[in-house]
Amino acid sequence: MAGDLYIGLMAGRAGGDPFDRHLFACAVAIVRATSRQPLSVGLGLSPEALAALVGRFFPHAPVLLAGLSATGHDDAPVAPEEPDLRALLLEHRTSGLVEEEWLAHIIARRSLETNHLWQDLGLTGRPDLSGLMRRHFAGLAVLNHRDMKWKKFFYRELCQREGIPICRSPNCEVCADFTLCFGAEDGASLLSPLALSQTRHCSLPAQA
Ligand code: SF4
Repeated sequence: MAGDLYIGLMAGRAGGDPFDRHLFACAVAIVRATSRQPLSVGLGLSPEALAALVGRFFPHAPVLLAGLSATGHDDAPVAPEEPDLRALLLEHRTSGLVEEEWLAHIIARRSLETNHLWQDLGLTGRPDLSGLMRRHFAGLAVLNHRDMKWKKFFYRELCQREGIPICRSPNCEVCADFTLCFGAEDGASLLSPLALSQTRHCSLPAQA
């Protein structure tokens, strides 16, 4: 169960930042629970990157590295927009940490799923995703100061770069798509309630 895996990953005494460990544990748990693909493919990471991530945050769970593909191309894009989204994220990363490179790959891959992005990242709620963005992709968090849905925001940014008009109005306030862009992203976490109770101590402060 996704929640059990999350709890097991968080239980180890690994290094690394606790909030980042929470982010990666959520992503690992949700991919394992919802996909039969190799973990590296579900996360959009190369086997080498996944091994480095596990070594840093989950050295007590080497089983995560079992069954990785031998091709080494698990991070190869599976959609045309994936490299562009990775690049957009990396262009705005806050600190240049390798964790931000891993997160850029994970966010770009999980953005291809159909639920709210925070759900497909296995997170506790949308505030977790906003905390992630403020912490690791601060430039994008500033650009999205009106709190547009993150997946909408990413694709609008990519379209603007390509000169592709997607807005139905020059003004959000009178746009018929306002709710589509800014509406609530409610829903249940795809991790179990038990896991949710374990995540509370991991939440970031409002300003990261
Ligand atoms: S609400 Fe309308 S104008 Fe504003 S970002 Fe969305 S589509 Fe564009």
